[in-house]
Amino acid sequence: MNPYNYQKAATLADAVAARGQPGTFLLAGGTDLIAQMKSGHRAPVNVVDVKSIPELASVQATGDGGLEIGAAVCASKLAQNDTIRQQHAGLHDSVQLIGSLQIQNRASIGGNVCNAAPSADAVPALIVDAAQARIAGPKGERTIALEDLFAGPGRTTLSEGELLVSIVLPKPDERSASAYLRFTPRREMDIAVVGAAARISVDGNNNITGARVSLASVAPTPIRAPAAEAALVGAPASGATFAAAAIAAQTDATPISDIRGSAEYRRELIAVLVRRALEQCAVRLNLEISQ
Ligand SMILES: Cc1cc2nc3c(=O)[nH]c(=O)nc-3n(C[C@H](O)[C@H](O)[C@H](O)COP(=O)(O)OP(=O)(O)OC[C@H]3O[C@@H](n4cnc5c(N)ncnc54)[C@H](O)[C@@H]3O)c2cc1C
Repeated sequence: MNPYNYQKAATLADAVAARGQPGTFLLAGGTDLIAQMKSGHRAPVNVVDVKSIPELASVQATGDGGLEIGAAVCASKLAQNDTIRQQHAGLHDSVQLIGSLQIQNRASIGGNVCNAAPSADAVPALIVDAAQARIAGPKGERTIALEDLFAGPGRTTLSEGELLVSIVLPKPDERSASAYLRFTPRREMDIAVVGAAARISVDGNNNITGARVSLASVAPTPIRAPAAEAALVGAPASGATFAAAAIAAQTDATPISDIRGSAEYRRELIAVLVRRALEQCAVRLNLEISQ
């Protein structure tokens, strides 16, 4: 590993100022960055630790019943959060799949997002929850839909000097539930061959009034699955609807063949995982599902 300067930012302003310097990388848990530095994939001149910045280190309710998660909050803290467990069960599923318990004690939600791996487990779960990314930079703050933060493998749409402050989740509908599932050859310490998150909202007749589906490891970035969502909205929550949406999701993806699976295998996995994620949503909503 090349020598580098280490700095701990105490405030958001300090971090934004430091981030503007050439060769500067932000450090949260370091579970991606340090490994990349050791392998020579990244060679920062300056490493700026963001874990102590108050805005990045807290989880708090928003005025309108939503939740704002600081970018540096680690996965295990999110797994212990009651609001996330009750209202954002898919996110709760996903953060408990990241690495091992030791990794979860370090791995931040912002690092999972900003590392921009197509396989990042928390990202599809955040996307189906309509997450917004709060970004700070030299020109002030802006907020974008989380799915618009990804430019390609390992690349975000953050501009020079910008950093992720927090993720804002709106309050979910009253009768709504989410789930995240992934397939890995090993149970732990492996990267998703495919990941699938779903959220559905239903009315009093159990017709689907809102749906979001998002996939990992099937395109250069995490993606939404609009064909799957269109197959769900307006339809009854049933086995047939879920199966149709699962097939539709295959058309939303552009998987590649690599060491972890062929494109064809990934397409099969998409259909299986999307259907199971939707079934898990139905279970969480206590719905009796007809075929
Ligand atoms: C053994 C092992 C197992 C793993 N298993 C999984 C897994 O199962 N699923 C999974 O999804 N991931 C997994 N990972 C990857 C990693 O743990 C996660 O992506 C983690 O969430 C990264 O968070 P971090 O805080 O460690 O990020 P860091 O390594 O600190 O940062 C990652 C990247 O994001 C940038 N960054 C960090 N914070 C910000 C910010 N606020 N604004 C802008 N840029 C920022 C950094 O500069 C860096 O480029 C694994 C890693 C290891 C080492």
